[in-house]
Amino acid sequence: MTAVSPSAALDLVCTLVSAIELTPGVAIHAIDRDGRVTYWNNKCTELFGVPPQEALGQPLECLISHPGHEQDYQAHLQHIFDTGEASRVADWQVGRRDGSARWVSGSAFPLVRHGQVEQVFCMEFDITGRKANERNLVLAAQVFEHSRDAIMITDAHNRIVAVNGAFTEMTGYSALEVAGREAQTYQEGMRDEALREQIREHVLHHDHWSGELWGRRRDGSPLPLAGSVTAIRDERGTLTSYMAVMSDITERKRAEEEARHLAEHDYLTGLPNRVLFRDRLQQALATARRKMSQVAVLYIDLDRFKEINDTHGHIVGDIVLREVAARLSRCVRSMDTVCRQGGDEFVVMLADIGSAEHAAHVAGTMMKAVTSMNQADGVSVALSVSIGIALYPVDGPDIDTLLKHSDVAMYHAKEGGRNGFRFFSPQMNAHVSERIEMENSLRSALQNQEFELEFQPDVDIESSETIALEALIRWRHPVRGLLMPDQFLAAAEETGLAVPIGEWVLREACRQGRAWHDAGYPVAVAVNLSGLQFMHPDLLRNVDAALAAARLSAEFLELEVTEAVIMKGNAAAHDTIRALRERGVHITIDDFGTGFSSLGGMSELAVSKLKIDRSFIGEIGSGTARSEIIPAIIALARSLNLKVVAEGVETEDELQYLRQQGCDQFQGHYAAVVSARARPPVSPTL
Ligand code: C2E
Ligand code: CA
Ligand code: CA
Repeated sequence: MTAVSPSAALDLVCTLVSAIELTPGVAIHAIDRDGRVTYWNNKCTELFGVPPQEALGQPLECLISHPGHEQDYQAHLQHIFDTGEASRVADWQVGRRDGSARWVSGSAFPLVRHGQVEQVFCMEFDITGRKANERNLVLAAQVFEHSRDAIMITDAHNRIVAVNGAFTEMTGYSALEVAGREAQTYQEGMRDEALREQIREHVLHHDHWSGELWGRRRDGSPLPLAGSVTAIRDERGTLTSYMAVMSDITERKRAEEEARHLAEHDYLTGLPNRVLFRDRLQQALATARRKMSQVAVLYIDLDRFKEINDTHGHIVGDIVLREVAARLSRCVRSMDTVCRQGGDEFVVMLADIGSAEHAAHVAGTMMKAVTSMNQADGVSVALSVSIGIALYPVDGPDIDTLLKHSDVAMYHAKEGGRNGFRFFSPQMNAHVSERIEMENSLRSALQNQEFELEFQPDVDIESSETIALEALIRWRHPVRGLLMPDQFLAAAEETGLAVPIGEWVLREACRQGRAWHDAGYPVAVAVNLSGLQFMHPDLLRNVDAALAAARLSAEFLELEVTEAVIMKGNAAAHDTIRALRERGVHITIDDFGTGFSSLGGMSELAVSKLKIDRSFIGEIGSGTARSEIIPAIIALARSLNLKVVAEGVETEDELQYLRQQGCDQFQGHYAAVVSARARPPVSPTL
């Protein structure tokens, strides 16, 4: 710089200051060696909140402060006064009188006169706004990098601009790898084209979307995400970028999945439970409605499962149920559903079937699959199922009707002798509700003493003497009146009540026998045994107990077992007969002629009597083939040294015929008449 006179220098400074003064936004003030303000422009007033009249002549430190570095600032000014060196531009914070703070960027230079620094001029720009932005930027960068959520910033064209560390950790992609690539590839690239479109649309209209989506990791594995996408716009509203924030919800999804599985599946078999079944059936019905196709609902009940549970225990029972579940599942296609309805009941839905034959075919396959299972946990089991089938739309329009009707059909399959299947038909309905009602009232009938016995005499044809009296059970139903055995015995068998009821008959008949003895009529009592009762392990014990309780001698008890039961019976049945015979109890084969007993087999049995079935007696005199059988049966009995009884004799002609053929005894409505003539009538109410 060329040398100038001091006044010229001052002029120069003034010119300079005026020039600067014209520059908008620059605050200028000057201080003298005492630190008092000598110059204070308008911008200073604005920046520091002090008008010139209050500022001029005041020590600078009374007007503005430099929090945290007051001494530095003073030293810096002093340095200029001492050396005459201008300061470099620097940023610092100043405190205003009102307590607020500002960031300024400024510099100071000396005004030298007479070789000495007379004043120092300070120029300051207000950079508070810029500083705040900078701080925000630093903060944002820290948040971005330290966030545990993956963050991805894209430009307006959805190309990736930046991703954070969490993104890399979550997806396996480094920032370098993804920079400049299409965001979709890493974000929603999985499978949901529709969702992708939906997100785009939503962000377009609302600048924001949040929800769940599937991403993909670098190794190709699916990545469940919860997150948001936000559109970022500049101050003019132009879209500049997008920000996606995502968290990995694999754990949550897994827990949700597990909870859903538990809620929708049966714990024992792992099959879908009712809830899921209904859901699937609902969907299948909707599809069938659209496609005008059919859906089949199969109600499956294991026959005599209770027996397995009772004899072998629950562990074997559970194994059986699990194995049955697995076998049933193998009989259906992937679009079908097998569900455990509870207990030993299963329900199967066959979706979209072409015809009823398809359902019949599956039912047949299932029956075979279950019957072929012959052991569980080392225990041998004999299993079968009864299946009821209802078809959509013919048998019902909705889930509940179809389930109910398949259940009804299943009941009929059971009644039809188990191990079979039935299609629903509308006539089944009334019958079944009656049956269910019957089963319920049967349970309380024993306690309520609603059963009674009627006795029918068994009369010697020659002497007309009453040899025995057969106990026939009656149920005095509180609402329906007197019911005959064929109206309730099948239901009793089905519910397992046949055994306790049979026990009651046995005890009651023996008690009655005793009463007749005591009254001077030593007749035998005959008791009918159901198949279940005959095979029951407690039979001998019960017979002994009944006889003992009545103090009745065993030879006054006859037990009637049908030919069918004997024929079905195995070695155990023969042992039972022998054991009874050894006690002195007589065994009668009831309903003889209806089965197909082999002569050879009969001779080995320790039975006492054959009872010719009623249906043959009714044919007497008709000349039909059936009536011809009577002489053959009588001849057979004679050869085996058995007594023959004809049951259901109603007329004198029938009796005549039987007498001619050499029949020993007879029963029937006519027997009551003859017996009454031969000896005093026996009152069943004794
Ligand atoms: P069942 O042992 O063959 O008994 C004979 C049935 O023929 C009885 O019917 C009897 O009332 C009927 N009957 C007797 N005389 C005549 C006649 O002259 N004409 C005609 N048409 N019928 C006659 P009920 O009492 O209805 O018994 C039916 C079946 O129920 C019995 O056949 C027997 O198998 C069973 N039953 C009856 N009581 C018991 C019982 O206490 N326990 C068991 N397990 N079964 C029983
Ligand atoms: Ca009988
Ligand atoms: Ca009979």
